Amino acid sequence: MPNALPRPHRPPASLHPPGDAPRAVIARTALTMVPGAAPLDDAAVILAGRRVLDIGPRRLVLRGFCGPTTDLGAQAVLVPGLLNAHSHLELSHLGAHSPSGAGFCAWVAWLMGQNLHALSPAALNAAVAETAGCGVAAVIDIGSRAGPAVAAALGRAGLQGLVCHEFLGWRSLAATGVPPALDAAVGDGLAATVSGHALYSTSPDNLRQGQALCRARGTPFSLHLAEHPGEVELFASGTGEFAALLRGRLLPKGWRAPGRTPTAEALAQGLLGPDTLAVHAVHLSATDVALLANSGATVCLCPRSNARIGVGVADVAALVAAGVPLALGTDSLASNDDLDLWNEVRALLAVHPGLPGSVVLDALTTTPARLLGRAHDLGRLVPGAVGGVAVIPPDLAEALDLGSPGRG
Ligand SMILES: [Zn+2]
Repeated sequence: MPNALPRPHRPPASLHPPGDAPRAVIARTALTMVPGAAPLDDAAVILAGRRVLDIGPRRLVLRGFCGPTTDLGAQAVLVPGLLNAHSHLELSHLGAHSPSGAGFCAWVAWLMGQNLHALSPAALNAAVAETAGCGVAAVIDIGSRAGPAVAAALGRAGLQGLVCHEFLGWRSLAATGVPPALDAAVGDGLAATVSGHALYSTSPDNLRQGQALCRARGTPFSLHLAEHPGEVELFASGTGEFAALLRGRLLPKGWRAPGRTPTAEALAQGLLGPDTLAVHAVHLSATDVALLANSGATVCLCPRSNARIGVGVADVAALVAAGVPLALGTDSLASNDDLDLWNEVRALLAVHPGLPGSVVLDALTTTPARLLGRAHDLGRLVPGAVGGVAVIPPDLAEALDLGSPGRG
């Protein structure tokens, strides 16, 4: 499926040029993502860098404005700068070589054969440029090897969000927090924290301590959860190909299956709450969906990564019906063709064509912004916001615009 997607759409690179000199952008419509606000027709936004100085009807906003103006044309629909809620930028040098659709065990075997430490500055910078180029303003990035380099590259590109140092393993990480070099590399709307890899790879103590550290820092806690069928089988019975792969490697001697689903196990470990970002969540029972909804956790959908690895398709309709907040992430170039978040939307809508545009737009903007504690200045087009703007690609305008609040 990823190969059948249209080529990424590129809005004018001049939307967020270097420098803080005020400039205006004009579009047919702006979707501010302010709850209850109608679409702004014949809209103008005045930006200083990515900071929104003013937004409203063109005739009002541009009165007396004499700076440079970019007219995006009679069809353009503006939205707030997007948030990519799950990436691993340190793996960008692995792009385009991963096996396709072979299943999680085959993908892990391939990944373990790669040199994961061979960070390529050129590949990292290209990945960050691609992220920014599609209209992303902020990311939640996960890594364990090159956090400071990733943070520096994001900062140079003017991107914000969160760089997470991933906890993985059973060896106690009690003394390990955010590496000082990572803390030193963030700033200007980019924060540092930790994350947990997964229930099968990381001890309950380490996950609990990681979550406590996130809470102390006021950041969300990311965890890969219920990604593939082998994970479900492992926690249900301790059997299967994935269990065999892990025993003697990641799983400690004497580990016993808890006899429940990964989601129920995450709840039992106290890991699900409004500050949890459950990534993938492909294999959920009806009870799991209700548990997630009751916990207030956000689910990050990664449709192209799931398709590339061959783990299945998330039941997005059930998540939406249950009221689970959704975000969208590209995952890494080790399991995706590119980091264009609009291509993630295309893949999502290809599999879930009835998904309301408002659900998709919230997943791209307001929901991850709220999770980051940045609802005031990311994910909305209001004066004082700092995420700049994105342009809905023409082929997606109807699907997203018509489903937006006030239009459908
Ligand atoms: Zn991931």
